Amino acid sequence: MKLRYITAEQPLSHHNQLLAVLSEDIKDQLAPHLELVRLPPGEVVYEAGYADYYAYFPNDAIVSLLSVIESGKGAEISVVGNEGIVGIDALVGGSNPCSQAVVQSAGTAYRMPAQTLKEQFNRHVELRWLVLRYMQSLITQMSQTAVCNRHHAIEQQVCRRLLLSLDRITGDELPLTQEKIAYLLGVRREGVTRAARTLRNLGVIESRRGHIKVLDRGKLEELSCECYAVVKAESDFLLPYSCLMHRHDGSARAPARHGASRLRPDSSLRSAAQPVQA
Ligand SMILES: [Zn+2]
Repeated sequence: MKLRYITAEQPLSHHNQLLAVLSEDIKDQLAPHLELVRLPPGEVVYEAGYADYYAYFPNDAIVSLLSVIESGKGAEISVVGNEGIVGIDALVGGSNPCSQAVVQSAGTAYRMPAQTLKEQFNRHVELRWLVLRYMQSLITQMSQTAVCNRHHAIEQQVCRRLLLSLDRITGDELPLTQEKIAYLLGVRREGVTRAARTLRNLGVIESRRGHIKVLDRGKLEELSCECYAVVKAESDFLLPYSCLMHRHDGSARAPARHGASRLRPDSSLRSAAQPVQA
């Protein structure tokens, strides 16, 4: 596996951005442990409690982390695309994952045994620094999702959820159905149906067979609760590539409210991310 061709200059969805901004030296050391795999939709890459599992670096795949209760009902606690890693539980001491990871949007990912990732994490300061920042952004997303599910209207939650997928794909067609959104949000299907009807009537989305096409991203952001912006601002602050990644329409994202200047002055990471012009 050669990772040298994975660079931050490549547009969103081509490669995992967390890997892309690592120095060439670290990429070379990780490469022998990485395997490129295709992830089909609906695939459960691991369950809570798995003893042996892989950590995944999604390229164009999107993976949901779900918490499932005894009744079989569940809710999504976070979304991971090419900005992050699936399966980081091993890094913080637990040998088993505490959530279920399910592929929501098909694509490819690099994977390595979670235990190997832990070894590499402990060995390389640069990787550790970046992964810890990613973990902080993931904690923010989980925390915000918890409060969102409790206090915000379903219509707002649907907008937030659509934006999370939209940020992680190329194009504007999301492989989401109303039924799937209802499951991810842990709400009744009827509420999502009403929200989707409202969004259609406003010209924000178009429902297609098994897909939702976003017609007006700006309006979708307006109609979302503040949770989307809070999580995005934190990710843009924490991750040197997040605010620089290209949007699906080819334009660059605006810097987050914190500004890229507050990034930790690590020369290798900064130089890797710099070629992308905002
Ligand atoms: Zn919210």
